[in-house]
Amino acid sequence: MRIGTAERDGERLVVCERDGQLLPLGAPPGTSLRELVERGELPAQPVDDGPLDGARLIAPLRPGKVVAIGLNYLDHIREAAMERPARPLVFAKFPSSVIGPGEPIRIDRSLTQRVDWEVELAVVVGRRMRDVPEGDALAHVFGYTVGNDVSARDLQFGDGQWVRGKSLDTFCPLGPVVVTPDELPDPQTLGLRTRVNGETVQDSSTAEMVFGVAELLAFCSRSFTLEPGDVVLTGTPWGCGEFMDPQRSLAGGDVVEVEVDGIGTLRNEVVEESP
Ligand code: MG
Repeated sequence: MRIGTAERDGERLVVCERDGQLLPLGAPPGTSLRELVERGELPAQPVDDGPLDGARLIAPLRPGKVVAIGLNYLDHIREAAMERPARPLVFAKFPSSVIGPGEPIRIDRSLTQRVDWEVELAVVVGRRMRDVPEGDALAHVFGYTVGNDVSARDLQFGDGQWVRGKSLDTFCPLGPVVVTPDELPDPQTLGLRTRVNGETVQDSSTAEMVFGVAELLAFCSRSFTLEPGDVVLTGTPWGCGEFMDPQRSLAGGDVVEVEVDGIGTLRNEVVEESP
């Protein structure tokens, strides 16, 4: 099933996307997708009420935490001239950075001059995970969505700590929907790409991951608890602007599309702001 959160007339609804239409999932009004995931109460079928006219998708959920993985694609490691990590490189993005499809990525020019794109397969945790072995890890996945790990490179590399450069407001687009694992049984065979103003800048496959989804979840859960509704961003492939010659950076008016096969395309326009 393809599950999302839609807004209509100021009301938020958990929806199912089918044949390009949004159908109500029959959850009680005001119930968020995260609450349904936490309670394990997701309806198996949309209610047969016909499509929701005038509804638009927003971020599928507000995660409790966003765990992110750096340097997890072999092609990205080659482009960055880095060493293959011996274990997953884990960092965090604050959940306050999450936005949904169609919402603007806002660049505050008093904070950063170098803003980059990173398409990522995003895993939504479905069941509490603490010290779960790799062989059981995928059974804890609620579903998969697309993430853009937008990064202020000057802050990321200048702070000595990545969290600020990765967590500026609007720097974590997620969506458009969450696809359940029955529709994506193997997360290591998915094409993923980024287009900036229609030009393809990233184009790879999750087969290039150094540590696969199951291994990442097991590794994280060995160190800290993953809660239902947490999101794990699994790293980005080659093609970031930072490593191009000359370097490239997002600017006001740019349109960034990140997509993962079988999930969909997440589109956000860039807006520049000064305080
Ligand atoms: Mg990343």
